[in-house]
Amino acid sequence: MFNADEMSQFLTALKFAAVKHSNQRRKNREATPYINHPIEVAEVLWKIGGVRDMVTIIGALLHDTLEDTDATPSEIKKLFGAEILALVEEVTDDKTLPKQQRKRLQIETAAYKSSRAKQIKLADKICNAYDIGHSPPKSWSLKQCEKYLDWTEQVVLGLRGINPKLELHYDTILLEARKALSLRNK
Ligand code: ZN
Repeated sequence: MFNADEMSQFLTALKFAAVKHSNQRRKNREATPYINHPIEVAEVLWKIGGVRDMVTIIGALLHDTLEDTDATPSEIKKLFGAEILALVEEVTDDKTLPKQQRKRLQIETAAYKSSRAKQIKLADKICNAYDIGHSPPKSWSLKQCEKYLDWTEQVVLGLRGINPKLELHYDTILLEARKALSLRNK
């Protein structure tokens, strides 16, 4: 399905993300290696969303590298080109802003992103909502988990209208996660 150049770029992206995230762990009890997360986002796009656009899949693998690692725009541009860099930048929060403002901006800007960025963001919210339901950050209170899910719901409002399969999957995962939290409360 993919030509040799695309496969080669896919592997370069997988390795680049693995190296860049190599010292990071998720905040859950199991301290899952961080790289699992971008792989899961790419997997959701491919398997659930039916996305066959390689730029989007590579963007998913790289989506947290600018925000959370020492990866630089020039490194990404050199390895993957200007189009993929622009996509990764589109899904990257401005870390110079305070956290609450970044979260508000995600809600406000979601509807104005490109189709590729919207789908990556939606798959990201799917994975994060799933994690809140199944394996939340160990220091988070129930209230924090609930508020986080409410926030993802608001961001996702702006991401709808591009990929119905991903949207439906998000709805299912959100419901499951809320149910899991309500059981945790008992
Ligand atoms: Zn992410």
